[in-house]
Amino acid sequence: MKLLLVYAHPEPRSLNGSLKDFAIAHLKAGGHEVVVSDLYAMGWKAPLDTDDAPGYDNQTPFNPALESQRVFAAGTQPLDIEREQAKLRWADAVIFQFPLWWFSMPAILKGWIERVYAYGFAYGVGEHSESHWGDRYGEGSMMGKRAMLVVTMGGWEPHYSDRGVNGALNDLLFPIQHGVLFYPGFTVMPPFPIYKTGKMDATRFEQVCEAYAVRLDNLFDDEPLRFRRQNGGDYEIPALTLKPHVAPGRNDLGIHMSDD
Ligand code: FAD
Repeated sequence: MKLLLVYAHPEPRSLNGSLKDFAIAHLKAGGHEVVVSDLYAMGWKAPLDTDDAPGYDNQTPFNPALESQRVFAAGTQPLDIEREQAKLRWADAVIFQFPLWWFSMPAILKGWIERVYAYGFAYGVGEHSESHWGDRYGEGSMMGKRAMLVVTMGGWEPHYSDRGVNGALNDLLFPIQHGVLFYPGFTVMPPFPIYKTGKMDATRFEQVCEAYAVRLDNLFDDEPLRFRRQNGGDYEIPALTLKPHVAPGRNDLGIHMSDD
């Protein structure tokens, strides 16, 4: 299969660097094709700005979404954005690997999403009307592809449990897993978290790699997170609120996952 690894850490000799190297070697040994977007090594430009809109007329206020739509449709996007979009089209699965920084992804990776996920490519896809609010949340350009987050963090596993002080991991990752991955159509695999990184040593690293290898080997077989599809019948149209009989009486983020 074809795997894209989008990787964000500034130091190749870090724990993240070792995990990246392990994943590449393991996937290649398993016969997969692997392409890596090593964002720091690439010198990835994070801010979305007017440089991303060749031909922009600065007599009018800069509208990032509309300019993105214009250059995407015209085929005049900057080359670095086009290259990453081509990698996404090519891949059967995408792994996003990063350290948790302030409860989210490093800014350079957020900037990759903002710039690569163009209007017409990752959003603004499909019919937009009162009866169909676009092909998104389970449909869209990334439909049929799998995606998984590999996240290292200093906090301990119980800190990220359902009653942990940091909030439950899947709640913290909801904006990424549901918003960034499920929205453009990815089938989202459960994350692979590596907790308590300050206590890593050679023995534990080996155990982490063994567990990671199992997840990589089963990437195309494991059960994905069962997010509800926007156009699957659970949501009122066009309000896009869950129908009253779905997860009645609840308003936590878990209501967007199906129990069936
Ligand atoms: P490194 O610092 O490179 O390594 C961690 C440990 O692993 C070290 O002891 C190192 O010696 C060891 N190690 C490295 N490679 C190997 C190897 N090959 N074999 C064996 N041992 C190895 N944490 C949270 O939980 N929540 C947050 O919100 C959060 N926010 C942060 C914000 C910022 C700006 C920063 C800098 C850190 C934050 N952290 C947070 C902590 C952060 O998530 C961890 O520091 C990070 O995930 C560790 O990954 P690393 O690759 O940088 O590890």
